Amino acid sequence: MIISIASGKGGTGKTTVAVNLALSLSNVQLLDCDVEEPNSHIFLKPEINDVTSACTLVPVIDHDLCDYCGKCAAACEYNAIVVLPTQVMVFSELCHGCGLCSMVCPQDAISEETREIGVIKTGRSGDNIELVYGLLNIGEIMAAPLIDHVKEAISPEKTVIIDAPPGTACPVIAAISDSDYCILVTEPTPFGLYDLKLIVEVLKVLKIPSGVVINKAGIGNQDVYDYCKEEKIPILLKIPYDKKIAEYYSEGTPFVNTIPEWKNRFAEMIDEIGGES
Ligand code: SF4
Ligand code: SF4
Repeated sequence: MIISIASGKGGTGKTTVAVNLALSLSNVQLLDCDVEEPNSHIFLKPEINDVTSACTLVPVIDHDLCDYCGKCAAACEYNAIVVLPTQVMVFSELCHGCGLCSMVCPQDAISEETREIGVIKTGRSGDNIELVYGLLNIGEIMAAPLIDHVKEAISPEKTVIIDAPPGTACPVIAAISDSDYCILVTEPTPFGLYDLKLIVEVLKVLKIPSGVVINKAGIGNQDVYDYCKEEKIPILLKIPYDKKIAEYYSEGTPFVNTIPEWKNRFAEMIDEIGGES
């Protein structure tokens, strides 16, 4: 089963849930797809055994063959190619590597070269967890292709947990698509509710079933609970607003390691949604 952990915004406790959940299950693979700022490894302290360069393809124009017809620029949905009367400019940072421009070029003037966008690191944490995470190169904006590379490591023999990037844009879609279930982490505050509504709408389009984990339960108001009831979204778990849990987080210690009864709660949550604990 592939379970993604998402939230409409950062800082709601998404990685806390992903890491503590992974530590509560057996035979699990955690993919940290928050490639701009992966931090699951800070808590899991894995032994890294593989580092692979991740590349995407970008077009290269042969100016001897090009007649500046503009078909490549018209075909590119990402405005990554601009054709001027005597020049073709490629903005490789915007290119998604889809290859369409080279397919439509009538002069065969476009070839492709690889460009490194980041690295994929693979390691083990304890006996149970395989951790795979992507690290986007500094200044790189193309998170989605790197996330696709991270997801190539998915193991069908394991329970797969995907720690998705925050927000509701392309990188989140790349991370959560093909998931069997999505756990949404939110706080019971007006900000939490606003962002929760956005990600719920995304999941409706993607047709991925979901449930909510309330982090810092006890603060805020009832609105998130009422919204979940109205939308018939199950509340799977409530993690209380607790000074001790916050202290463990700030020390980089997953709280299930120090409050072991939480392992049962996370495992029961996975049983509830149909996975294997
Ligand atoms: S489609 Fe080919 S020939 Fe036309 S402008 Fe682009 S690179 Fe040049
Ligand atoms: S490969 Fe795709 S995204 Fe990149 S420039 Fe060509 S058409 Fe645009």
